[in-house]
Amino acid sequence: MNDYIDAHCHYCGGKNTIYNATRPDDWDAVVAHVRDGGHGAIGIHPWYIGDAHNNAIDKLRQILAENPKLTVGEIGLDKYRPDMDRQIEIFCQQLDIATQMGRGVHVHCVGAWDKMLNIMKSCGQKLPPFILFHRYSGNVADMPRLAEKYNAFFSYHNAQDIVRIAQTPTNRILVESDMDIPTDTTQIVKDIAAIRHTTYAEMLNIFHKNFIRMIQNG
Ligand SMILES: [Zn+2]
Repeated sequence: MNDYIDAHCHYCGGKNTIYNATRPDDWDAVVAHVRDGGHGAIGIHPWYIGDAHNNAIDKLRQILAENPKLTVGEIGLDKYRPDMDRQIEIFCQQLDIATQMGRGVHVHCVGAWDKMLNIMKSCGQKLPPFILFHRYSGNVADMPRLAEKYNAFFSYHNAQDIVRIAQTPTNRILVESDMDIPTDTTQIVKDIAAIRHTTYAEMLNIFHKNFIRMIQNG
């Protein structure tokens, strides 16, 4: 198995990858990966809230209780998908569980940053140990505050978002593929290094340190 850093993906990878479920049907595979010593998260993605039927949320809590190393993801809000009220309900339930059980969360947020920030504000002092915003698309100016208040990390899957990549605090930036098949992130790391005027080796070192720090906080 490769040794690439991949802070957010949907495949069963090596020791520097985080395998995210998107719906209950994926949970068993992620649990097996985590029991094997990998990193993984289970949850219900905003695209799949239709799968949050019956006792899915109780089941989530139960599986997390049985597996102390599991984190919670991929969860979030997506303006371009139906039923925002239900998305918010499912997201908040999962965020609550993560907070109560002391698990980090992996968040998808598209076009719904005002709602996301309001929900997080309403959590008060009770927060999960870290929040990874994958494919971060929020305000550049919010990043330092999110980092400080929510122990937030920000990951990128390509080098198109030059402004955010350049402005992300060095101790908060991560790289991801968001792919569902094992993926070499070397080229993304090189492209991000170029944007940040550093070397590939130094960028890899930064990603590695941030990855370790984030999962240890979880
Ligand atoms: Zn994803």
